[in-house]
Amino acid sequence: MLVKTLTLGFFSCNNYLVMCEDTNDAVLIDAGGDYEATMQEVRNSNANLKYIFHTHGHLDHISGDVELKAKAGVKVFIHKGDQFLVEKFKDQLMMFGLPDMEIPVIDEHVDDGQVLEVGKLKFKVIHTPGHSPGSVCYLVDDVLFSGDTLFRDSVGRTDLYGGSYEQIGESIKNKLFTLDESIKVYPGHGSPTSIGYEKENNPFFGKNTTL
Ligand SMILES: [Zn+2]
Repeated sequence: MLVKTLTLGFFSCNNYLVMCEDTNDAVLIDAGGDYEATMQEVRNSNANLKYIFHTHGHLDHISGDVELKAKAGVKVFIHKGDQFLVEKFKDQLMMFGLPDMEIPVIDEHVDDGQVLEVGKLKFKVIHTPGHSPGSVCYLVDDVLFSGDTLFRDSVGRTDLYGGSYEQIGESIKNKLFTLDESIKVYPGHGSPTSIGYEKENNPFFGKNTTL
């Protein structure tokens, strides 16, 4: 498995190009924009980009969808709980004072426990509501793509569109901190971390929390 990090678009969203090295089939975890930069990495990796798997529907994670779908023919996946955010894309842009863009088109909804195959890689969907109602993480081998649910030394904000601090706490404690501590975590913003590190040190829901 090859993982390449691209930090793109509004609010420096991490997009991860994940490729099965046996078949070269690849998926982009979130799409923050900058079609050329994305395709440059796809070409450099000799990847056959087939899908975008969204961790959630906030604008900084979905604003690359329309161009990637139109020009590269990728299929776009998101949890049904965040379909309303995709439909509110223009409202989201307006709220942050950004120029108007076309609303992305979703091809398929993912659900908790579902396994998505990319080449020989198997991505398990873990529904982790809290940052948004349809936030999910994707677990593949020993790597978790955590979106804006879990960050290094932090967690996602819960003050936007259907966010819930109580829910994000339940998601992190019951669904992420129960995973193997050695699992590497690639978040939607900032540096990578691990389940073990966050269980110990996360200031919000880690063992030694003071919040
Ligand atoms: Zn977000």
